[in-house]
Amino acid sequence: MFKEANSYYTLNMEPIDRFRKAVTIKTDWPKDAQPGDVAAEAPLLAFQNFLADSYPAFHRVAERRVLSPYALVYRWPGGGDSLEKPILLLAHYDVVPVEAEKWTIDPFGAETKEGFIYGRGTLDMKGILIGIMEAAEALCARGFKPRRDIWFAFGGDEERTGILGALQTAKWFANKGICFAMVLDEGSPVAEGMIPGIDRPLALFSIEEKGFLSLDLTVQQKPGHASRPPETQAVATLAQALTRISQRPFPFRLTPTVESFFRGLSGLGSGPRAWAMAHARLLGGLFFKAAAAGSSDISALFRTTVAMTQLEGSVADNVMPSAVRAVLNLRLLPPWTIETAMARIREIVGDKAVAVTVHGFGSGPVPANPEHAKMGGPGWQEMIGALTAVYPGVPAFPFLMLATTDSRHYRDLAEGIFRFSPHLLNPRELALVHGHDERISVDNFVTGIRFYRALFEEM
Ligand SMILES: [Zn+2]
Repeated sequence: MFKEANSYYTLNMEPIDRFRKAVTIKTDWPKDAQPGDVAAEAPLLAFQNFLADSYPAFHRVAERRVLSPYALVYRWPGGGDSLEKPILLLAHYDVVPVEAEKWTIDPFGAETKEGFIYGRGTLDMKGILIGIMEAAEALCARGFKPRRDIWFAFGGDEERTGILGALQTAKWFANKGICFAMVLDEGSPVAEGMIPGIDRPLALFSIEEKGFLSLDLTVQQKPGHASRPPETQAVATLAQALTRISQRPFPFRLTPTVESFFRGLSGLGSGPRAWAMAHARLLGGLFFKAAAAGSSDISALFRTTVAMTQLEGSVADNVMPSAVRAVLNLRLLPPWTIETAMARIREIVGDKAVAVTVHGFGSGPVPANPEHAKMGGPGWQEMIGALTAVYPGVPAFPFLMLATTDSRHYRDLAEGIFRFSPHLLNPRELALVHGHDERISVDNFVTGIRFYRALFEEM
């Protein structure tokens, strides 16, 4: 239904050829490589150079700053004397590794088959990054100047931590005193068949992001021979703590963002289901139970989740472990913070024998700009304008990003953050992100270019 307008691109293959070339640059990070490893960083630099070589019209007008192999920044100067704050588009050019033997096609071959382009990163997220560049190039080639400054910040380590890429770039902006009216990063798609009972496509603008926190639960004991186990064993103590945690999930809560999402959905249907979605706050627990039943996707919108992801014990079957450890991965729904969530886990564990400590880097949730939850505020109208240009008649609703994105590093630099991918995806295609045989349809890739082009014109 949205395909007719894409026909120009099926005649002009150049954007697709450039995209395929981008996919062939192996920007997956080799296992066990460390930052500073020249061989590991070479493809990241190659990707940066590929952009410089491939988009001459854009590079004639934009300022380019290579902060490191992991951070590339562009400023596309605005033409007006408008005092509007700049906007920033984020993307990353690294990709997750592949298990090549599980692919039916070369993961870095960028082959096209039956209307799809195959390869690691086609969805996550070279398809988006190249879409942004193609849109900017096409506009620059015909002399277009945006009204205000538009910045791009591309990272090379998002799939690991974003610490060398997005975090350093955010600090770079902060040092220069540059703030943004709006930040746009990868995120939720134009979803098709993702919400039970809703067949039509919906644009999900994730305006809020859950936090990320991993916790170690550790129980120590005296090591020794398994023929003489102590009366109270560390494994049993840990197991009891985990059982208590699973019996006391975090409470349900309706954030304004999720409330607005369900109110939007209610307008698409009728009957008791639609009524319930419009009155989620009034119904409270009844609504949560009914909406979340059997769907971990929906349930995750209403609460901080606790995933039990790793267990570690003895090195051998006949050796008492000196310590046993479980790792919990929490995704924090506002207003939970790293501190309050950790305090709650400690309280539930309620056992001094079980140490609860932070594992790795945590990051708190990024709440929405309250205006965005009301479907307005910085950038909302422009996002709708660009959406309508490529997906006429498709409604957009506020949504909650369940995973983390690079944009979390910009929480203090932006009035509002959108996490949105302008590709029409069904659950089967979404499952290919980080999976085998990742692919994007040519139509989606081209629609993406048109979306960013419309957005730059709106801005
Ligand atoms: Zn990504």
